[in-house]
Amino acid sequence: MILEIVKYGHPALRAKGKRIEAVNEKIRKLAEDMFATMKDAEGVGLAAQQVGVPVQLCVLDTRDVPNRPSRMKIDGKEINFDDYMPLALINPEVEKIGPLVLGGEGCLSFPGISADVARPEAVTVKATGLDGNPIEFEAKGLLARAVQHEHDHLHGILFIDRLNKKERDRVDRDVRRIAAQNS
Ligand code: ZN
Repeated sequence: MILEIVKYGHPALRAKGKRIEAVNEKIRKLAEDMFATMKDAEGVGLAAQQVGVPVQLCVLDTRDVPNRPSRMKIDGKEINFDDYMPLALINPEVEKIGPLVLGGEGCLSFPGISADVARPEAVTVKATGLDGNPIEFEAKGLLARAVQHEHDHLHGILFIDRLNKKERDRVDRDVRRIAAQNS
């Protein structure tokens, strides 16, 4: 089922996600619906806050993004990340590694806005999967950026909070317009 994506101004986007204690049918159904919603919106990531449910669940799919490769390692070995997508992460913990790199980002809750955001180039992620088992991996490239963007959502942090002054000023009018339409 395709869910409604809430836009900036909706209070769920500023809510810290509640920890998920049990991976039950309800959570699996929410994740399935989020996969469908992300695909329909042609997004590379979606957090539960964006469908109005403030819990620690996000989904990612960084396949098929021209010129923006991802890399993923499990147990130190490079793996084909396509095999793991779409990927759902429950209660993710993210460790950021390496120097800041600037990259373009958009957000399904900010239609029409994109901006450059500086983030560490790599991450290690520990989370629970939809089968209830632990998932642990390292990511670089677009996947590392998308994980950080979604992990921020789970804590009520939005990409506009991470812009430098110049970028924030550049998008300010559009951000205010979206907020006015949605609050
Ligand atoms: Zn977003």
